[in-house]
Amino acid sequence: MTAAADQPTRRLLLVHAHPDDESIGNGATMARYAAEGASVTLVTCTLGEGGEVIPPELAHLTADREDALGEYRIGELASAMREVGVADFRFLGGAGRYRDSGMMGVPDNDVRHCFWQADPDEAAGHLVAVVREVRPQVLATYDEQGGYGHPDHIQAHRVALRAYELAADAGFRPELGAPWRIAKVYYNRMPRSVIEQGLAETAAKAPFPGVAQVGDVPGVVDDEVVTTVIDGAAYAGAKAAAMRAHATQITVDGDFFALSNDLGQPLVATEYYQLVHGAPGPERPETDLFAGLGAEVVAR
Ligand SMILES: [Zn+2]
Repeated sequence: MTAAADQPTRRLLLVHAHPDDESIGNGATMARYAAEGASVTLVTCTLGEGGEVIPPELAHLTADREDALGEYRIGELASAMREVGVADFRFLGGAGRYRDSGMMGVPDNDVRHCFWQADPDEAAGHLVAVVREVRPQVLATYDEQGGYGHPDHIQAHRVALRAYELAADAGFRPELGAPWRIAKVYYNRMPRSVIEQGLAETAAKAPFPGVAQVGDVPGVVDDEVVTTVIDGAAYAGAKAAAMRAHATQITVDGDFFALSNDLGQPLVATEYYQLVHGAPGPERPETDLFAGLGAEVVAR
């Protein structure tokens, strides 16, 4: 195949650690680009087997009981992706290849096939195959801290950035496809002023027993670090529906949500990014992840 003439011209790849991270972090962005006809591909690195379970009637799924949560969460992710209009969602190396590593410092970190123990080059190879097939111009993932320090999120960052390099390296596993250079790489971000105000509103209005701290929220940075603001207001409903689809993990109530810790957070439809590789578009901040990419780049 010489050119991907049958592919949509704008192609976005997102790399996440567990089912639900994509809807919380990028649900509005995914819904917007999918609605606009872009190709949106999600790669999730684990099944989230180690998660807690909110609904009591599903508590039997947890790892310490039936250990059936990962399989269940595949269905939740499929439902969430229907809500945001994304058909192309995959698990790194196939469903169940890498297991949820649990929070930092727990014994699950040492399980042999957990994602934290994965060889980054081997894991990146699975992602290189996706990159060379899909040929995205834009990649969005976590920062070096994985947003907030979860081992699977840190590893997702490492694997995504390694795949970004290796996919463009013609010498790396040519059997995985022709080399592909991703034009722009973004980290998921949350401006400090936005989350501080959102948590204050949560404290005043949200129907949860407590409120999250800034430190509980992934990707928080000083406002000036943010390069790109995606207005997802038109897709707020789709994002909320996608989050609701992850019912074992998330409780949504109006403009707020809580994870299994029952600490309220604001449900924000505007999503924020930091461009870390590639040239920015002309606007400050950018309002489009594909900003500045010439016709010759998006037509490839
Ligand atoms: Zn996660």
